[in-house]
Amino acid sequence: MNQTVTRADFDQVMVPNYAPADYIPVRGEGARVWDQAGREYIDFAGGIAVNALGHAHPALVKALTEQASKIWHVSNSLTNEPALRLAKKLVAATFAERVFFCNSGAEANEAAFKLARKYAIDVAGSEKYEIISTTNSFHGRTFFTVTVGGQPKYSDGFGPRPQGVKHIPYNDVAALKAAISDKTAAVVVEPVQGEGGVLPADKAYLEAVRALCDQHGALLVFDEVQTGVGRSGSLYAYMEYGVTPDILTSAKSLGGGFPIGAMLTTEKIAKHFGVGTHGSTYGGNPLACAVAEAVIDVVNTPEVLAGIRAKHARFVSQLNAIAAKTGVFSEVRGMGLLIGAVLADAYKGRAKDFMTAAAKAGVMVLQAGPDVVRFAPSLVIADADIDEGMARFAQAVDTLLAK
Ligand SMILES: *Cc1c(COP(=O)(O)O)cnc(C)c1O
Repeated sequence: MNQTVTRADFDQVMVPNYAPADYIPVRGEGARVWDQAGREYIDFAGGIAVNALGHAHPALVKALTEQASKIWHVSNSLTNEPALRLAKKLVAATFAERVFFCNSGAEANEAAFKLARKYAIDVAGSEKYEIISTTNSFHGRTFFTVTVGGQPKYSDGFGPRPQGVKHIPYNDVAALKAAISDKTAAVVVEPVQGEGGVLPADKAYLEAVRALCDQHGALLVFDEVQTGVGRSGSLYAYMEYGVTPDILTSAKSLGGGFPIGAMLTTEKIAKHFGVGTHGSTYGGNPLACAVAEAVIDVVNTPEVLAGIRAKHARFVSQLNAIAAKTGVFSEVRGMGLLIGAVLADAYKGRAKDFMTAAAKAGVMVLQAGPDVVRFAPSLVIADADIDEGMARFAQAVDTLLAK
C-alpha cells in the first residue's frame, strides 16, 4: 500500500509538461517546509503566490476539517452555506455585487472573458466582441486564456486560436488609445504583471485605461488572480490604485492552497449570465468556500494588511542590500508581498539558476520569466523567518557568484 516514491518516478509516470525541482516537500508549518530527506526550507515561494497564510494555518485547518465532517459537495442544482457566506463577504468587502465561483484562475478569467463578450454582444450587437490585452500578460492555460494572455510561447502550437483578441504594450496609454474602438468589448489588465516579471502598472495608466473603457463602452477586467487577497497590501490591488474594474478575477491566495477561483462583477453585468449560460461542476464547492472564507477573515483586517506593507519594506531593503553588495540586481520592484528582483544584464536569463541555488541553501524562491527572481511568501510570515530566509538567499547568491 504505502509504496516509496521519489523524484525519479516523476519522469516515469507524469506527463512531461513540468520540470519539478529535485526535492519533494512532504510537510509544512507556517513559512517552513520539510522535504523527504528532512531538510528544512524557508518558503518565499508560497506555492506561487497561493499559500497566503503559509502552511497548516490553524484557522484554515479548522475551517477545512470542520466542513469536511459536514458536507463536501452538492452540485450547482443546489446552493450551499459556505458559498453564500463567502460571496456575501466578497460583496461586502469590494465593488462587486455578484460573484461566480470556479476552481482556478484560468476558469475565473474564462468566465470573465465570456461574460464580457456576452454583455457587449447583448447590449451593443454582434460586432462588439474584441478583447484588448497586453503583451507579456498571463491569464491562465485554457485555450481562450492563453490566447488573451500576451505570451505566444503559451498559445502557439495548438492550431487556430479564438478570434478577436489584440495585444498592446503594457503601461502604454497611447497604444491603448490607438487600439480601442467601439468594437472593443473588454480591456484586460493585471494591476501588477505577475508571471510577466512582477511589473506594476502606473497609476496614471490604469486611470487612463478606465477612462478609455468608459468612453468606448468597453468593460474593464482586472485579473487579480496573483495580486488579490492581500498580496498587494490591500485586499485587492485595485484599491491601492483607486481604479475600479467592472469585472475582477481572483484565485491563488483566495483559497490559501485549496483550489478555488472567483469572478466578481456588478449586478448590471452579471445578469447577462442567465440560467444555463455558464457553469462549473465544482464551482462553489463547500470545502473550498469554507477555507476561502477563513482566508478572507484572517487577511482582511487592518493589522494583517499593515503587516504586509511592513514586510514589503523588510524584503526590499534586504534585497537592495544584496544588490548593492553583489550587483546581481538592477531593480527591486513590486507591491506588498509580490516582489521581483530584476537580474542585472550580466545575469539575464539565469533566474532559474538563482532558484536552484536558493533551494540548495534552504530557501524556496520563484522566477517570473528568465530575468526576474520573484518572492511571494506567506502574508503573515514572521520577521525572523524573513531575516533567516534572506540570509540563506544571500548565501545562495554568494555561492552562485563564486562559481
Ligand atoms: C496564476 C495566474 C492565472 C492562472 O491561474 P490558474 O489557477 O493557474 O489557472 C491567471 N492570471 C494570473 C494573473 C495568474 O497569476
